[in-house]
Amino acid sequence: MNISTILTGDRTTGPLHIGHYAGSLANRLRYQDSHEQFLLLADTQALTDNAHDPQKVQRNVIEVALDYMAVGIDPARSTICLQSHLPALAELSMLYLNFVTVARLERNPTIKDEIRARGFGRDIPAGFLCYPAAQAADITGFKATLVPVGEDQAPLIEQTNEIVRRINATAGQSVLPHAQAIIPKAGRLPGIDGKAKMSKSTGNAIPLSASPDDIRAAVRAMFTDPNHLRVQDPGRIEGNVVFTYLDAFDPDQNELAELKAQYQRGGLGDGKIKARLEAILQELIAPIRARRAQLSKDRGYVLEVIKDGTERAQTRTEATKRDVVSALGLFQL
Ligand code: ATP
Ligand code: MG
Repeated sequence: MNISTILTGDRTTGPLHIGHYAGSLANRLRYQDSHEQFLLLADTQALTDNAHDPQKVQRNVIEVALDYMAVGIDPARSTICLQSHLPALAELSMLYLNFVTVARLERNPTIKDEIRARGFGRDIPAGFLCYPAAQAADITGFKATLVPVGEDQAPLIEQTNEIVRRINATAGQSVLPHAQAIIPKAGRLPGIDGKAKMSKSTGNAIPLSASPDDIRAAVRAMFTDPNHLRVQDPGRIEGNVVFTYLDAFDPDQNELAELKAQYQRGGLGDGKIKARLEAILQELIAPIRARRAQLSKDRGYVLEVIKDGTERAQTRTEATKRDVVSALGLFQL
């Protein structure tokens, strides 16, 4: 049987949030029975814009692994592995950097957005600019063909496939497979402030470990339609964060469509839609929080899971590196 391989991962920069859930964790849960799946704790990539704070990157390795298992990622069915302990990925990254130009890296729309958001100006860490090549190494190192990611990652998958084309052309054979992104319809989830995307690094997130009070406070503070002052006024649903979140998480999309129509006509208050969203988020997060609390009592077990997974991933990525080196006809001793 030829089952396809999935590779995805998360930077170890902070605990995961509901944007991750909607953007990629839900798809990972869906695929873990039908596909071979590797989940990468991307600590090396996290360092590309956190070199001043290696402690944060280190600390969050366990936190992200806990989040994975708390949402239902099963280490018996999905392999959780640590990027910094997979030297073949670093070697492939160095190799791939010769198959991409600086101009192309600078043109990558995701990188451009992220450079702007981080206020790097001209002081872009070289590792940061080059991380698309490293991400290409991550994906192809596992010969993954499917990558469940948020919409912001699409240009990175495109760039991965460009590198794959060049390497295959140089090798004169199809040594690396092309990868396809699996992107949820809901698009990227905005932060509770309604501005940028929800992100671990900007403090506008609802973490998957949020307490009931945190969830309540976050929903209360959520941006709606600033001109919707009285219940009877017509309201806007575009740019209204509460409806964006309901689109992503409400299990009853038919009833939601009716509520949207009522809100636009007038006669539906912000309090009602916020109460609906809060109940949905409390229900989503409660079991995740409980499992997380349970698992975090046994950090030894979490470490074992990461160690086992990393060993399996080492075997896989070493094999790919050997294939690439041999297909390119490089010197081998
Ligand atoms: P950082 O701020 O450190 O970059 P992040 O919150 O952007 O953290 P990443 O680790 O960069 O998270 O992203 C991991 C995965 O989660 C990617 O597939 C990304 O597309 C997805 N993702 C992150 N934030 C969102 C969001 N707000 N909505 C949908 N998907 C998201
Ligand atoms: Mg990010």
